[in-house]
Parts: sequence; C-alpha cells; structure tokens
Amino acid sequence: MSDKTATKAIGAIAAKLGSDRVETAREILTCYAFDATNIKSLPFAVTFPRSMEEVRSIVSLCSESGVHVIPRGAGTGFVGGTVPVTGGVVVSMERLGKILDIDASQRVAVVESGVVNGMLQREAAKHGLMFPPDPSSLEVSTLGGNVAQDAGGPRALKYGVTRDYVLGIEFVTWEGRLVEPVCPGVGSRRWDPLDSLLTSSEGTLGLITKIWLRLLFVPKELVTVLAFFGTTVAAAGAVSRVLDCGVLPAAVELIDSVAMDCIKAFVDVNIPSGAGCSLLIETDGREGEARESMAVVRKVLDGAGVIDVRVAESQAQREELWRMRRSISPSLARIAPSKINEDVCVPRSKLPDLVEEVNKLGRKYRLRVPTFGHAGDGNLHVNVMLDRRDKDEVRRAEAMVGELFEATLRLDGTISGEHGIGITKLEYLPRQLGPAGVVFQSRIKRAFDPGGTVNPGKVIVQS
Ligand SMILES: Cc1cc2nc3c(=O)[nH]c(=O)nc-3n(C[C@H](O)[C@H](O)[C@H](O)COP(=O)(O)OP(=O)(O)OC[C@H]3O[C@@H](n4cnc5c(N)ncnc54)[C@H](O)[C@@H]3O)c2cc1C
Repeated sequence: MSDKTATKAIGAIAAKLGSDRVETAREILTCYAFDATNIKSLPFAVTFPRSMEEVRSIVSLCSESGVHVIPRGAGTGFVGGTVPVTGGVVVSMERLGKILDIDASQRVAVVESGVVNGMLQREAAKHGLMFPPDPSSLEVSTLGGNVAQDAGGPRALKYGVTRDYVLGIEFVTWEGRLVEPVCPGVGSRRWDPLDSLLTSSEGTLGLITKIWLRLLFVPKELVTVLAFFGTTVAAAGAVSRVLDCGVLPAAVELIDSVAMDCIKAFVDVNIPSGAGCSLLIETDGREGEARESMAVVRKVLDGAGVIDVRVAESQAQREELWRMRRSISPSLARIAPSKINEDVCVPRSKLPDLVEEVNKLGRKYRLRVPTFGHAGDGNLHVNVMLDRRDKDEVRRAEAMVGELFEATLRLDGTISGEHGIGITKLEYLPRQLGPAGVVFQSRIKRAFDPGGTVNPGKVIVQS
C-alpha cells in the first residue's frame, strides 16, 4: 500500500461522507496509534463513521485501493489488537454509540457496536436487567470490542463471558458487504455459526456494526466480602476450597500484596498486618439466598487460613470495594512507567502452582510482578512491571513472560484467559494451537478476507 493510494482512498471517503469523517492530523493519528499495551504505530488516517452504511463505504473504498482497515472500539485492549501495525486506516466505532432497543419482556438489547459497556449496564438496570459480562474496563470499552475479544470479567465465574450473551451480530466484510445475522435476538440456542466465529475474532474477520445481546434479571441480593490471607499461595488454595463447597459465588477475585499496596493510594482500605493477599468474593441470588451462600463461604474461609474478613454492609461500601478492584490496573503506573500484562489461565486446582511459579520468576528476573484477577476462573493477570528505557529490564521482562507461558502450558493452562492474542502473543500461538491449528485458523482468515485487508498482522495470520 503506497501513500499515494491511501491518499486517494482518503480523498474518496471525505468526498463521499464529508471531511469530518476523516482525520489525518498527526496529533489525532497519535491518539489512535496505540491501545493499553502502549505499543505504538501510526495509521495513515482515522475515520469516524456514524452508521453501518458509512462503515461499508469506508471499507469498500479502502479495499478497492488495497488499503488496510483496522477496526477500533475504545482502545483498551491489552494485546495490541487495534494497533495499526501496517499503517492503513483506523475505523473508529466511537460514533456508532446508540442503544437501539431494550426489549424488557424478551430481555434482549440491540446496540450499535460503539456503545460503551457501562452505558448498557445503566440502561438495562432501569428495567431491572443486567448485561452480565463486566470487564473491569466497562466504563470505557465498547460492546463491539467486548464481542471481538469475547471479554470476560469478575462475573464470568457464574455467568460466563460475552459469547454466552450474543444473540446476533451484523458485520461488514473486507469488501464492504453487509452480513446480517440469522433470526437475531431469538432464543439462546439460535443456529448461526458466523456469530461464533466473529466473537473473539479480534477484529480480523470483519467490522461489527450491530449486536443483539441477551440480558438477565438483576439479582435481588448481593453480599460482598474482602478476605485477607497471609500469602498469595494460601489465598490461591482457598479459591478451590470455596468453589468446592456447593455454592457458586458470582465472583472470586484475587489481589496480591503488591497490587494492594498500589490501590491504597486510590481508596481508603485498611489492610490488617500480616496480610499478603486478599480475595474479593461476592455471592448473589434471591432474597436471603446470597446471605445464606456467603455464610457457607465464610465457614470455608475460616478453615482455609483467612486472617480477617471485611463485609460490605451497604451498597456504597460494596461499590467502594469494586472501585478498588477496578482501580488496580491504573494504579500500577505508580510503581513503573510500563508493564506487560499477561492473562494466563490454569485449571483452578493448579492456581497455587501458578502463583508459586510467578513468585519464583519474579525473583529470578528481579522484577516486581503484581498479580490479581478472576481467580475463581483460574484466570490471573500477571503484570510484569518495567521501564522500557532500561534495555536490560526489557530483556529480563520478555524472558520472564516466555517462561511464564511455558509454565502455564505445563500446568495445562492457556496463554490467554480473556485478553486474546493480538500482536503481543502471536509468537507463542503455535505452542498453544499446534501446527495444524495454526494452518486451520489461517484458512478461516483467508475465507473471510482473502486479500488480508482487515486488521492484518494479528491473531489469525495468513500462511
Ligand atoms: C483497566 C482495564 C481493565 C480490563 N479488564 C478486562 C476484564 O476484566 N476482562 C476482559 O476481558 N478484558 C479486560 N480488559 C481488556 C479490554 O478492555 C477488553 O479486551 C475490551 O473488550 C476491549 O474493548 P475496546 O472497545 O477497548 O476494544 P479495542 O481495544 O479498541 O479493540 C480490541 C480488538 O477488538 C477489535 N474491535 C474493536 N471494535 C470492533 C468492531 N466493532 N468490530 C470488529 N472488531 C472490533 C479491534 O480491532 C481489536 O482487535 C481491560 C482493559 C483495561 C485497560
């Protein structure tokens, strides 16, 4: 793709849709050059469609000229998925931000793909409903991005991930054609294999413009506690015991001592002496049910070496605990300017082994590694903190991540529990999928996008 062809395509887009739909100023391009990984690559232009028809026009004008298109939601991804590594034209979905319908009787929402998750949560709550997938980025990340990444969140333990709530996806193909879903919004066992492929396709198969999502009733009662343990290994061991006790909490989140130290700057949390790790546990259900479940959980915690338990007595205290949990990622910036955030996931019973491995690797490579995450799902966010100006530290951090992935695979785990592959984990993908898996994935990519127009250089690489 030459600058000349890209300039021609951009000119054609501006002529057709108006110059306010296209930006080429360097200061704007810079804002769309990165995601939460902070890996940067400037696009040639950024476009801001306001409708599905405009997305189609942009994509067809780009693909006619051989210009790459990169779909983008809010840029909160942790794997570089929306970073325009080959330049090209970023298609930002931020102006496709309308909730088109909430059908309370069918418990179905229809949204444009740029709607922010938290906005849907608030609208659904007005009908006594909720959209269970609740990534910690919910106040920023878009539902299109959530679907493209199959986002999870604390509630995934009980309620599943985004995929479990998709009831239809409308998307635009590499050549600007529209694909509409089969019978969207109907039943939870609808047959539409394209939905399954688009969900977690990481923006490589098409541009999602409209989504039908299943909603659930908001539980009547919620009980939230913060339980402190002496060590991360003890807390990780308690997770399995809690989940074997016959009740299924809505969330079991682990926060290690380094992460706790960071969040102390954000919220007023009084940490007991000797605490080296905490578990944020929530039960939910009908009136009385959540309390009953939490009583069972508390008995298990008592037998699992808990040091102290704080119970959120009011809705405000509950929100404070969750605000604390959601502030971990941003709070880490206090200890180092950069981080490599890996979302490794192992069978729950192997969590203590994973935690020991992380501690061992942190010591071996002399790095600070705050660890937290959706432990109930076996999914831990291991944050390798570093200063990218220090070449030796970068080398040590990258070596540590390689060993972490090897250890995860040895423990029968996966290198991605929810953030996806993007560009940061590409080199490890063959280890996870095996050669046949990689070939098969590239065939799927080729069937959807023969010329490699949509988000090239990402997850599903063409062979
Ligand atoms: C503080 C913080 C907390 C987080 N917590 C969680 C968590 O709990 N659980 C979790 O799963 N993730 C979490 N994430 C990661 C991230 O928020 C999710 O992956 C989210 O789904 C990305 O949404 P986005 O709108 O920001 O997408 P982007 O980052 O803009 O894009 C992500 C990928 O989706 C593609 N994409 C975006 N929109 C579309 C579209 N309309 N059509 C086709 N492809 C598209 C892009 O090309 C890219 O490959 C967190 C991130 C941060 C910064």
